[in-house]
Amino acid sequence: MSEANTRESTDYDCDLVIGGGGPAGCSAGVFCARADLDTLIFDRGRSSLRRCAHLENYLGFPAGIDVETFYDLIHDHAERAGCEVVPDLVEVVLRREAGGFVIETQENRRMSARQVVTAARYNAEYLRPLDDEGEMFESYEYDGEEHERFDSDYPDSDGSTPIEGLYVASPSDEDDQAIMAAGRGARVAQGVIADARMANGWWEEAAEGVDWMRQEAGLDDEWAERETWIEWFDDYYGEDAPVSPGSERFRRVRETYIDEQFATYLSTEEIEARTERGHRALSEHVDPESIVGAVGEEKLLEAMDGVAIREYVTTHEAR
Ligand SMILES: Cc1cc2nc3c(=O)[nH]c(=O)nc-3n(C[C@H](O)[C@H](O)[C@H](O)COP(=O)(O)OP(=O)(O)OC[C@H]3O[C@@H](n4cnc5c(N)ncnc54)[C@H](O)[C@@H]3O)c2cc1C
Repeated sequence: MSEANTRESTDYDCDLVIGGGGPAGCSAGVFCARADLDTLIFDRGRSSLRRCAHLENYLGFPAGIDVETFYDLIHDHAERAGCEVVPDLVEVVLRREAGGFVIETQENRRMSARQVVTAARYNAEYLRPLDDEGEMFESYEYDGEEHERFDSDYPDSDGSTPIEGLYVASPSDEDDQAIMAAGRGARVAQGVIADARMANGWWEEAAEGVDWMRQEAGLDDEWAERETWIEWFDDYYGEDAPVSPGSERFRRVRETYIDEQFATYLSTEEIEARTERGHRALSEHVDPESIVGAVGEEKLLEAMDGVAIREYVTTHEAR
């Protein structure tokens, strides 16, 4: 996606900081980075996922997946999408006078971001300095003692909060299962992306979108023409747009929108290249020892890069 999609980040160290790199945070990060938001994920500290003995019910892993490999996979995914994943703990999020937020970490990082997503199921405490109205936390009694926890009703269902630029992916009512937490992260990311675009001149209807890849073969001749898209955009968004269809702003959003649509269509060759890349990326997370004799052993070895194959062969020849 192009620069016109999102706000310029020149005044900030990054567009978006995500506090927590579990399923909710990494899922949000993948969507936001793919939408060209300069995204940093901090991940350290108490994790719900790390208490799980073996993740059995996350779709796509037919025999379940061990938590360490799952963490490696989701961090790799977030990084390949364009996020920076930093093993550090967010200690505090403060308001920044010029707008946005300042984030301070355990390792003395101090940085500014326009938007913040909190994604730490057990630790929203770092948001407390933002809680001017005393609405973020609720008290509860446990074992005869009074405690406080983040109030999951504080954010709206889409994760937005009364504080502009602050979103909650976790904790939430959907954080009981990892796959639901990941879904929540994706949902919250859609709102983050739409808000970032609106701050850059987009309007709501045009800013809300899906991140889909399509087969170029399914693109008929008419829709392969830019002119068709222009007419469609003017018809579809022109009437209710808050700006005149003749304005520079309308044209800028329209051009970016259409560029993006064209970029979603993949040729057969590109689909094949991505298939191979996808298999290779997966293979990097598989322990060669564990696939000896397994159905698909050869296919997996083929997908592995040269270094891994050499190491594998050397080890087995030495036996
Ligand atoms: C014992 C147990 C077993 C479970 N078993 C399963 C299961 O089999 N299947 C299943 O689907 N779900 C299981 N769950 C639930 C699952 O762990 C959660 O649904 C899921 O992990 C929630 O994801 P999350 O991203 O919201 O939070 P988390 O998984 O807690 O991820 C939050 C991340 O943020 C990091 N973090 C925390 N504080 C900060 C901070 N201040 N700054 C930066 N980073 C921070 C943490 O290190 C962590 O990596 C289990 C939970 C428990 C407790």
